[in-house]
Amino acid sequence: MAKQSDDTTLGRQVDQLVAGMDLASASQEDVAGVAGQIQGLGQGAVERLARGIFRLGPSRREKVAALLACLVGEPAQWAFDELEKLLHSRVLSPMERVWLLTALRRLEEAATGDEAARTTDAGTGPDYGPEGLPADESELLLWRDELASLDPADQEATIASILQRGDPTLLPFVEMVVSLRQPALDAAVACGLGHFATPATLPLLRELLRRPDPAVRKRARQALAALERQGIDTTQLFVAEAEADVPISAAYASRPDSHGWLIVLVARGTAPGRVRYAVVVVDPVEAGIARAWGESGLMQSDLQDRINKLSTGSGQELVRVEPNTAQVLVAEAERYARSQGKELPSDYVVWRRCIGSPTGPAQLPVTFAPACSECGKRIRGGDLKRGAIVLGHVALCATCAGRLRSCPGCGRALHPSFDEFLVRLDGGSGKVQFVCLRCARRR
Ligand SMILES: [Zn+2]
Ligand SMILES: [Zn+2]
Repeated sequence: MAKQSDDTTLGRQVDQLVAGMDLASASQEDVAGVAGQIQGLGQGAVERLARGIFRLGPSRREKVAALLACLVGEPAQWAFDELEKLLHSRVLSPMERVWLLTALRRLEEAATGDEAARTTDAGTGPDYGPEGLPADESELLLWRDELASLDPADQEATIASILQRGDPTLLPFVEMVVSLRQPALDAAVACGLGHFATPATLPLLRELLRRPDPAVRKRARQALAALERQGIDTTQLFVAEAEADVPISAAYASRPDSHGWLIVLVARGTAPGRVRYAVVVVDPVEAGIARAWGESGLMQSDLQDRINKLSTGSGQELVRVEPNTAQVLVAEAERYARSQGKELPSDYVVWRRCIGSPTGPAQLPVTFAPACSECGKRIRGGDLKRGAIVLGHVALCATCAGRLRSCPGCGRALHPSFDEFLVRLDGGSGKVQFVCLRCARRR
C-alpha cells in the first residue's frame, strides 16, 4: 500500500515537472535542469518519464523526448530498459514505434557512450533495429496517414524527432513526409537533411529542389551545401541510390492496350506472410505513371490470386518478364513523367522501393511520347479519345486512323467506322497496315 502511494506521488511529481516545462521558451540548460531533477528522484521517476513517450497532450512527446535526450550513463540505461520493455509488451501504432525507436537509439548511445554505440551499429547492429523499424511499405503508408492526421505542431514535432537523429535508417520516413507535398513539412525536411551525412539523402534533396515553393528549394540548396562541407560527393545527386532489399521473386507485364497502357507487377519475398508486390500502370502517352499500388504481408497464394484478378479485371493477361525489363519500363515511365512535368502518384514513391532500379538496358514493348507512324504527329490523350491508336510501337493519330484504307491482301476498301480489321506493323516497310479479318485469319 505504502509503495503504491509513493509511486503515485512520484508519478505526480514527474508529471508536474514535465508539464511545467515550456519547450518553446526553455533553453537547453533549462531542459537539462528539469532532467536533472527527475534523475534526482531516482530510477522510478526516470522510468515514469520514459513511459510518458506514449502520453498524448500538447507537445508531450516532444518534451519527453527532449528530457530523455539529456540523460547519460546509468539513468539513460534505466530509461532504455523501460522503453525496451514497452517495445515488446504492447501493440504499437507505426507512429508510436518510431517515437520509441528513435528514443531507444539515442538512449543506447547515451548509456554506453557514443563510440560503443557506433561500433554496434557498424557491426551486427543493435537488436531492436533497423529491422525493428517499420520499413515495410504498408506500415510506412499507415505511418504517413497517421502523420497526415496530426495537427501541424505535432507533425513538426514528429518530423523534428526523426531529423535530429540524422540516422540513415530513418530516411524511409523522411521520404514519406516528402510525399505529402506540404511546403511547411518540406521546408523542415530540407533543413534537417543536412544532418544526415550520407549520399542516401540525395534523391530526397533532388525531389525538394524541384518543388514550386522557392523557400523549400532554397533550404534544399543549403542542405546540399552542408552535405558538401561534410565531404559527401553531391555529384551523385542525379544517380539513383543503391538497393538493399529482398530479391525479386517474379516480375510480370501485360501487353499494351489500345491506348498504349500496360501493367507492370514486381513481387519480392517468398516466405509465407512476407510476400509483397507493387503494381505500376504505365501510360506512355500522357502521365508516364498513371497509377501505383501494392500490398505486403501476403502468402504466395495471395499473390497468385491478385495476379489472376488483375489479368481478368483489366482484360490484359499478365505474363512473366525479366525483372530488369519491368524495372526499365517503370524507370522510363518515371523519367518520361518528369520530362513532361507530370506529378507522380504519391503512392508511387512508396511502391517504387519494391520495383527497384534496373541493372541494364532492355527492349521495351512501348514507345514513350509516341508519334503517328504515318504523319509523324505527336499523339496526345485527346487524340486517343477521337480514335487515335497506340499499339506498342505503332501509333496512328485520329486523322490518319480515320482515313479510308484498302486491305493489302485482297485490295478490299476498309472503312474505319464500319468495317472490322486488324492494325499491324509491316515488318519490311515499317508502315502500319489495315488488314481485313478474312486475310488476317488466312495468315
Ligand atoms: Zn497521322
Ligand atoms: Zn483482305
